Amino acid sequence: MSRRALILEELGLNPVWVRTAILPELQIAAQAVQAVAVNAPAPAPRPQGLSPVAVAAHQALAPLVSQPKFSPPPAAIPANDPVEDERSKRIAIMNWDELQSAVSSCTACPLCQSRQKNNEQPVFGTGPMQPSIMVLGEAPDADEIAQQKPFLGEAGKLLDNMLAAISEDSLVYKANILKCRTPNKRNPQAAEAQQCAPFLKRQIELLQPKSLFVLGRFALKTLLETDEPVSVLREKLQHYKQIPLVVSYPPTYLLRNLPDKSKAWQDLLRLKGTLTAPLV
Ligand code: SF4
Repeated sequence: MSRRALILEELGLNPVWVRTAILPELQIAAQAVQAVAVNAPAPAPRPQGLSPVAVAAHQALAPLVSQPKFSPPPAAIPANDPVEDERSKRIAIMNWDELQSAVSSCTACPLCQSRQKNNEQPVFGTGPMQPSIMVLGEAPDADEIAQQKPFLGEAGKLLDNMLAAISEDSLVYKANILKCRTPNKRNPQAAEAQQCAPFLKRQIELLQPKSLFVLGRFALKTLLETDEPVSVLREKLQHYKQIPLVVSYPPTYLLRNLPDKSKAWQDLLRLKGTLTAPLV
């Protein structure tokens, strides 16, 4: 991928994601249009020599008879899948230990296959309960899986330095929207983020962070359910369930795009403001 494409991707200026919740509806609509075009029967000929009553009945029934019989195929991911709803409800009432255990044994998305094959453990997150800041990234890499910690290496150091610059004694909890590693560090896919989101949402509820620092468009999309890019949403303070939420660029992106560090500094100042401001 070219450098320009990388930058556009990080800034959220590449093609907009289609919300997974409406994908089945879009598929059904497209199939319906095709079916009408292909299967619509010719209008029934009007019968001759019938009584006026029979002719009236024929006219009344004709539109119904000429309608194509169309049964939409079952959607791949129903918008309101009762099984998924039930899973989300179960996760939403788990305590901390139950949540960690559920993540460890999760098979809800295809990423579990490589995790099991490589005998890996998901990275749940690290830090204290009731942190000042909860930092959210995208997915762990192989090193982070091995050490069971998110945000390691050069990107992790940069993040630590950035956070130390606004408050050395902040209690920071770090986690990712995906708990398992993606192949070759590829971006999280919408369906994976959707399956992992109930874990993250319960994790936030139990942790009760004072502020959320959300890095990158995938983490952003998971929490705020929006297709707006980072470059737009970082311009002002957001909220997730009344928790102040500051949007910024992932440290991996900042390592490749040094000029944007000044923007990240503005985001950090906004984050610092949430630590002293009264809760909304
Ligand atoms: Fe489960 Fe999340 Fe791992 Fe997918 S990434 S298998 S949803 S824990």
